[in-house]
Amino acid sequence: MQASFEALQLSPALTAVVHDLGYTQPTPIQIEAIPALLAGRNIIGQSQTGSGKTAAFALPILQGIEVDRRQLQALVICPTRELTAQVGREMRKLGRDHSGLQVLELVGGQPSRPQRDTLERGAHVAIGTPGRLLDHLERGFMKPDSIKTVVLDEADRMLDMGFGDDVRKIIRYLPQNRQTALFSATFPSTIEAMSKEIQQEALRITIETADEDLADIRQLKLCFGTDDKLLTLCWALQSHPHGSALVFCNQKSTVREITKAMSRGAISVDRFDGDLDQFDRDQVLARFRNHSVRILIATDVAGRGLDVEGLDLVINFDLPEQPEVYVHRIGRTGRAGANGVAISMIQNETDRHIEAIEEFTGQPIEILDHSASKSLKLDHLLKQLAEGPKMETILISGGRKDKVRKGDILGALTGEAGGLSGKDIGKIEIQDKLSYVAVSQRVISDAVSCLNAGRIKGKRFRATHVGR
Ligand code: AMP
Repeated sequence: MQASFEALQLSPALTAVVHDLGYTQPTPIQIEAIPALLAGRNIIGQSQTGSGKTAAFALPILQGIEVDRRQLQALVICPTRELTAQVGREMRKLGRDHSGLQVLELVGGQPSRPQRDTLERGAHVAIGTPGRLLDHLERGFMKPDSIKTVVLDEADRMLDMGFGDDVRKIIRYLPQNRQTALFSATFPSTIEAMSKEIQQEALRITIETADEDLADIRQLKLCFGTDDKLLTLCWALQSHPHGSALVFCNQKSTVREITKAMSRGAISVDRFDGDLDQFDRDQVLARFRNHSVRILIATDVAGRGLDVEGLDLVINFDLPEQPEVYVHRIGRTGRAGANGVAISMIQNETDRHIEAIEEFTGQPIEILDHSASKSLKLDHLLKQLAEGPKMETILISGGRKDKVRKGDILGALTGEAGGLSGKDIGKIEIQDKLSYVAVSQRVISDAVSCLNAGRIKGKRFRATHVGR
């Protein structure tokens, strides 16, 4: 029997939203977690990347929210700003029919004051990183008394990052009779201990082994031996046509080197590593999501909390030390049923890391024959990789808080106002205070001038071409 959302006791309104979003079937974690959470249970859930776990907790939370009560009713604690933003996006997407719903993101590295003001005006769901959440609680800006549900997302990662104490302190502020959901990719003893400490009678939800999560991903290994590694990488990218590709390196210095070498061509490539400041990180990720950046070279900073539609190729330029990290990295592709390819570059077939990975996942990895690359020149490959239509990104200085909507931006660029054709406009992403729109490279300057000359919702905003 096929599972259906109808069987999960979700309200007809939320069931309609998931169908509208194209979620035809619930994922295994959703099948188990949604009814349990709706029944008020505490859960400890295994959550591999791309398993659909955000919706698994967001849907029950949304079902329980009373929008008319302007009080904080749910709290989601995340290890990173990126994950916070991703959970926020999914929560808003799923809550789009909850008119008046306020979902608030509370992360460090941003001024505290506006967050405090929004808290005072009243939000229903708060999502954030431990330090900043604790700060708002300690200073009394966040009122925890009406919180019904708390979620710890990627709890193992929070402990790894040293947030254990902050998380415990946050939990102490919350009502005793709350519901607690803990999600974690791995279950070391520290997680077991934390679960015992903060939740009672938690229902354990384990989703069968890594194989299923990796089922839609074709895994390949490329033994480059003594061949030029950069050239082999470019060949792998070129011979596996992709919407977007993510290349993982273990070191920031390698990320920089490859990005620099590939930028010599007209390829749409950029880097993502811990050296970027928050603004640049957000911008690079927005450009990757809207396909202005087609190839992203990254360290593991990007391995979590990155969710890109059409990401169909992941390449491990370096293999990670731990097999779990391999699964997280390649789980970025083949998400929720789409097909993906993962290529791991190794010097020789007996590499002990690749053997450990095969053992961990229980799946042999196919060898990718790259003899065709041997007669090729780097410049030639770079030229080929640069072919095809290109998108660029414009940053607009207004967002959700300014009541800017996708249709307003589209309207300002096309029709009588803008004169551009709809087919030159790509993805539009509205954030709290700013928006990103992707447009074809050939109309970029017209699009920037038209946005700067015109008005959106009767207001003037600044539009800038961002990127290289
Ligand atoms: P997550 O594991 O929460 O990061 O979710 C992975 C991706 O799958 C997100 O882009 C979700 O929007 C999407 N997704 C979640 N549930 C489903 C579903 N039942 N069917 C299809 N896509 C889904």
